[in-house]
Amino acid sequence: MTFSELGLAPEIARAVLEKGYEAPTPIQAGTIPGVLSGKDLIGCAQTGTGKTAAFTLPILHRLRAGTRGRLRALILTPTRELALQITDSLKAYGRHVHLDTAVVHGGVGHQPQESKLRRGVDILVATPGRLLDHMGRGYVDFRALEVLVLDEADRMLDMGFIRDVRRIIAALPARRQTLMFSATMPDEIRKLSREILRDPVNVEVAPRRSAPAAGVRQTLLPVDTSRKRELMAHLLETEARGLTLVFTRTKHGANKLARHLEGRGHSVALLHGNRSQSQRNQALAAFKGKRARVMVATDIAGRGIDVEGIAHVVNYDLPNVPEDYVHRIGRTARAGASGDALSLVSPEDHPHVRGIETLIGTKIERRVVQGFAETKAASRPIGQGAPAWARPVSNHSRPKGAGAHPRHMGGGGPARHMGSGAPARHMGSSAPSRPMGAGVPARQAAPVARPNFSAGAQAQPANGSDSSSRQNHAWRGRGTRRH
Ligand code: AMP
Repeated sequence: MTFSELGLAPEIARAVLEKGYEAPTPIQAGTIPGVLSGKDLIGCAQTGTGKTAAFTLPILHRLRAGTRGRLRALILTPTRELALQITDSLKAYGRHVHLDTAVVHGGVGHQPQESKLRRGVDILVATPGRLLDHMGRGYVDFRALEVLVLDEADRMLDMGFIRDVRRIIAALPARRQTLMFSATMPDEIRKLSREILRDPVNVEVAPRRSAPAAGVRQTLLPVDTSRKRELMAHLLETEARGLTLVFTRTKHGANKLARHLEGRGHSVALLHGNRSQSQRNQALAAFKGKRARVMVATDIAGRGIDVEGIAHVVNYDLPNVPEDYVHRIGRTARAGASGDALSLVSPEDHPHVRGIETLIGTKIERRVVQGFAETKAASRPIGQGAPAWARPVSNHSRPKGAGAHPRHMGGGGPARHMGSGAPARHMGSSAPSRPMGAGVPARQAAPVARPNFSAGAQAQPANGSDSSSRQNHAWRGRGTRRH
C-alpha cells in the first residue's frame, strides 16, 4: 500500500515520501480513505502510531482546492508542544500545496497571533484556552470552516478543557467534517463523540486496553527513595548512554534532579510548565540537536515530545495516572524503532505499578541494579494503601467498555497482575530482588505512604493554556476524580 493508493494528491504523496515515509502506518491506512470521502471519524490510536499524518494529510488534500485565506480547518489539541508539532507536520507534508497555517497557544504574547489571524489563514492549530481568548476578541472567523479535528480528546478531558472545547464547537458551523482522536475512550469522550459526530467511521488501531509500542523494553528498578538520584546518575553513566528522557512527577523534583545531574557532569535540558516558552523551546532544541543528552521533563510538558532517536525513557517517578506511563514510554521506540523504558520504583510507587500493570495487561520485569537493592520491607497486601483507581472495583459497578479509564483501573484486570507475579530476574546483581508486593508477609509489611496527588496536581498546571484559573480548575478536577 502506498500513500498515492490511499487517494492522496500526488503533491502530498510526494512530500510524504520526501519526509522518508515509505508506507502508511495502520492508522493512516485505516483513516485516510474515509476522511478523504468526507466522512466523520473517530480514531482510537495510541501515541506514536502516526495519527498526526492520519488527519493532516487528508486535510491538506481537501484544502488544496478552494478559496485561500479563509479559515477552513481547525485542529484543537491539548498542549502547546503538540500544537507546534502538528504545525511542523502540516508544513512538511504541505510543502507543495502552500496553504497558510497559524498556531495559537498560551504562554506567549497575543499580538503576533492576532496579526496572523487577521491576515487570514487556511488552517488553525490551537489549544482551547488561547483560542477562546482570540474568539472573545473577535479575531476568529469560522464562517468558512469545513473541518474540525479534536486531537488527544481524552487528554483534553483530563486537563479540564472539555467545557472550553464544547464552547468552541458551539461557535462552529454545524455543516462540517469532524475528526476525533483519542488514545482511550472514557465515558465523557464517548458521550461527546455521540453529540458531535455524524455516522462516523470508527478506526481503532490500538487495542482498547492501552498498550505500549511493541519495541519498548520495560524494566522496573526497585530502589529506596533516598537513593533515586544516585541511581539515576548511575544509569546515565552505565546503561543509559544514548539520548535519555527522564520524567519526574513535579516541577520542583525536575529542577532538583536536573541540578544534581548537571553537578555530575551531564548535559541536561529541563522542560516543565513553570519555564517560559523560550526556555522550553531552547530546551527542546538542545535535546533535539543532541547538545543535551538528557532531558528532564514533567508529564504535560513531555507529552508532545517527538524527538527522533530517544534510546531511553526513565520514569524517575511513576505517573499518578497509569495511561501517562504508556504515553511517556511511547517517546522512545517511535515509528517501529526499539527503546528502553526504565522505571525507578521506590516503595511509594508500588500502588502505581499495580495500576500500570493492570492497564497494559502484562507484568513488567523487575531488575535490581547492583548496589541499589531496596533496604526497607515495602510490601503489603494487595490493594491496601493503593489509590482509588488502583483498587479493584466490582464488575457490575463498572460501565461497559470503560476498561482503560483510570477511574476503573483494577476492575477488569486479571488478578495475576496484582502483587504476585513472575519471579524477579537478577541481572548483574548480587542483591536479592523480589516482585513488588511479594516476599514479605503482610503483617510485617512496613506502612507505605499513599501517593500524594496534590503534589502531582501542584506540579502540572501551566500548559497549553494561559489561564491559570482554568488550569487550577483542571487540576482540581483531576485530583477529586481519583479520591
Ligand atoms: P505521531 O503518532 O503522529 O506522533 O507520529 C509518530 C512518529 O512517526 C513521528 O515521528 C512521525 O514523523 C512518524 N511517522 C508518521 N507516519 C509515518 C510513516 N508512514 N512512516 C514512518 N514514520 C512515520
